[in-house]
Amino acid sequence: MTLKTAIHSTPQTSLTALLARRPLIISGPCSAETEEQLLRTAHELVTAGSVDVFRAGIWKPRTRPGSFEGIGKEALSWLRTIKAETGLPVSVEVANARQVNEAIEGGVDILWLGARTTVNPFSVQEVADALKDHQLPVFVKNPLNPDIDLWTGAVERVQNAGIEWVGLIHRGFSAYGTTLYRNAPMWHLAIEMKRRHINLPMINDPSHICGNRHMIPETLQYAADLGYDGVMIESHFDPDQAWSDSNQQLTPQDLKTILGQIIWRQKKLPLKHEALIEYREQIDQLDDEILSLMGKRMVLSEKIGIYKGRNNISILQLKRWADILERAFKKGRKMNLSDDFIKGYLSTIHLESIRKQEEQMNRESKRNDPE
Ligand code: PEP
Ligand code: MN
Repeated sequence: MTLKTAIHSTPQTSLTALLARRPLIISGPCSAETEEQLLRTAHELVTAGSVDVFRAGIWKPRTRPGSFEGIGKEALSWLRTIKAETGLPVSVEVANARQVNEAIEGGVDILWLGARTTVNPFSVQEVADALKDHQLPVFVKNPLNPDIDLWTGAVERVQNAGIEWVGLIHRGFSAYGTTLYRNAPMWHLAIEMKRRHINLPMINDPSHICGNRHMIPETLQYAADLGYDGVMIESHFDPDQAWSDSNQQLTPQDLKTILGQIIWRQKKLPLKHEALIEYREQIDQLDDEILSLMGKRMVLSEKIGIYKGRNNISILQLKRWADILERAFKKGRKMNLSDDFIKGYLSTIHLESIRKQEEQMNRESKRNDPE
């Protein structure tokens, strides 16, 4: 079933139709600006063959007042023209009940909740309530802050409203100050979200993650390597003149070039994959060994806890901790393990070791001081 049929079919249709279109390419400008800009971008995208669903923000949640806040419902008729001329399904961001009603009445096929909406359960609930008697696909972007419970909550509110097609858009998380990315991808959070919602498609929005054009190819390839189902990516026939997010938008031609270079990995294992099975067996064995060593290491931590308790020595010994790290960095570098990895790995162990020592230390003092 094509995406188009899927969108217009009954509520019973499953998400598989969306997944079958993998990679799903949703593209279009950050904002609808003028009818000419919107139509020209849509036609150029179709000519480049790099779009399945057309997107455009018509209500724009801007950080500061006074910036361009979107054309509003006037742009709905432009989107209808695009649908009629190109056959593409069209999608917009909605953040309140009025926008949901106007978008649906205006013939919009797919809706999405933006990061500034997902973050607020009141807004999400308002949108969900407005969706109650409707059936159309809804994508939920991750919230601004790195909180996947909040993301999950938004998904549940939309699902509880009866919406059967819910997809996830990973657009990165806000960070304070200047960082490499406009919004830190924090891939591990997206991976955990996908693990929790295994049946929901997840697409990547490299435009809002990167905030610039040059980092988009490597970011998108990373998402494709992980097995994302597609992409929402901003495009504009003349990005430098865009009224919002001009640094990150791509021309339809550049988008075509980038998409042509991306390798989308198969999600299902091929039938013959003996080598992979063997590697996995070896990894399982090594994991078992690491775990049994870890158990032994923690027994030593407990002994240290008892010792420190008896001798009234504080658990945290900064010099020792610095020495452990330094020693591991040196060794790790020889094994091709990054300092970041070593630090994360040893910090987790160290915290657990502190917990174990604390347990033993308190047990010791209780024993010495019976009530
Ligand atoms: C957008 O898609 O243009 C947008 C506002 O995105 P986000 O909600 O991810 O910031
Ligand atoms: Mn944008």
